[in-house]
Amino acid sequence: MEATANHTQIVTGWAGKDSSGKVMPYVFKRRENGPEDVTIKVLFCGMCHTDLHYLKNDWGITMYPVVPGHEITGVVTKVGSGVTNFKVGDRVGVGCIYASCLNCEFCESSEENYCDQVQFTYNGIFWDGSITYGGYSEMLVANNRYVIHVPDNLPLEAAAPLLCAGITVYSPMKHHNMLQAGKKLGVVGLGGLGHVAVKFGKAFGLHVTVISTSPTKEREAKERLNADGFIVSTDPKQMQAASKSLDYIIDTVSAHHSLGPVLELLKVNGKLVLVGAPDKPLDLPSFPLIFGKRTVSGSMTGGIKETQEMLDLCAKHNITPDIEIVAPNYINEALARLARNDVRYRFVIDIASKSKL
Ligand code: NAP
Ligand code: ZN
Repeated sequence: MEATANHTQIVTGWAGKDSSGKVMPYVFKRRENGPEDVTIKVLFCGMCHTDLHYLKNDWGITMYPVVPGHEITGVVTKVGSGVTNFKVGDRVGVGCIYASCLNCEFCESSEENYCDQVQFTYNGIFWDGSITYGGYSEMLVANNRYVIHVPDNLPLEAAAPLLCAGITVYSPMKHHNMLQAGKKLGVVGLGGLGHVAVKFGKAFGLHVTVISTSPTKEREAKERLNADGFIVSTDPKQMQAASKSLDYIIDTVSAHHSLGPVLELLKVNGKLVLVGAPDKPLDLPSFPLIFGKRTVSGSMTGGIKETQEMLDLCAKHNITPDIEIVAPNYINEALARLARNDVRYRFVIDIASKSKL
C-alpha cells in the first residue's frame, strides 16, 4: 500500500509552481484525521516574507508545487479519538512547526524548533513521505501537539501573524532577557517581524528605535507604533549620531546588508539577534565586534509552549499586528507589494472570502 494512501481529503489551495513568485489555484489531498490530529477550517493566513523566499526559491530548497503559509488561524472541525485538549469549534492557530521527533533534548524542553528532525508546515517532508502544504489553503490536518489555542479576545485575523512574526521576535527577546523596561532596543527593518518587535518593546517599557531604509516610515513608526526614535540607515550622519546608544538590536531585514554599521549602534557588550534570513551571507566585520565586545546571534521561530505563552500575553496586553486583509484573488498582487516593501505591515489572506483566484 502506498504510504500516502490515507491522503483522501481533497483541499483547494494556492501554490507556486515555479520561481516566478506567483501562486495559482491548486487542488491537492491531505491525510485523514488521525487519532492525534485535529482538522482545521482555515480562515486566515498571514503572508510572511519567508513565503516569498520559498516561492522564488531564494534559498534553493523549494519543492514545487509549494503551498505557502505558516501564520494560520481557523476553527477546529474534527478531533481524533486521542485528542483531549481541543474540541470542535475551538479557535486555533498553527505556525511554522508541523512535526518533530518528540524524543530529543529540544523536543523535551519545548524547543521543538531546534529538533534535528523538525518538519515545517510547508515545504517539509512528513513522516509518511508526503510534502507538507501550508495555510494558503482551505483546510489543514495537524497533530494537536503543534496546535495553539487562540485566546477569545484576539481576533483570528490579527492573531495569524503572531504565529510566525510574533513568536520569531518574542522568543529571542525573552531568551536574551531584552524585555526589561528602560533598556534601549533597536529594530532593523520595519516590516512584518519588525513592527511586532516594536510593539513588544513598547509593551514592556523599552525605549525603541527603528533603523530603516525607508524615510517614509518615520512618521507612522512614531505616531502609530509609538517608536521613540527613527534612524535612516542609509544616512551615515544619522547612524554616526546614534553610535553606541543601544543595548539590543533585532535585525529583521530580508535582503543582503552589512552588519558593520548596525553593530556600531550597540553599546559595549550589546547584543544583536539576527532573525531576517537573506539568501546570501551577510558581511560581519571583526572590528565592531572586537572593539565593542559585542555579540551576534540568531534565532528561528519558537517552541509550541512559548508560542502559546506569547499569544496569551498578546491577548492580555492587547498586542496585535497592523494588518491589511486581502482576498485570495489578491494574493499575487500582495506578493508583488511585499517584494517591493509596500505593506503596512502584514497582509493576511481571508481564506474564506468569496473572491477566489
Ligand atoms: P518584510 O515584511 O518584507 O520586512 C522586511 C523589512 O526589511 C522591510 O520592511 C524593510 O524595512 C527591510 N528591507 C527590505 N529590503 C531591504 C534592503 N534591501 N536593505 C535593507 N532593508 C531592507 O519581511 P518579514 O516577513 O518581516 O520577514 C523578514 C525576514 O525574516 C525574511 O528574510 C524572512 O524570511 C525572515 N524570517 C525569519 C524567521 C526566523 O525564524 N528567523 C521567521 C520569519 C521570517 P525598512 O523599509 O524599514 O528598511
Ligand atoms: Zn514566517
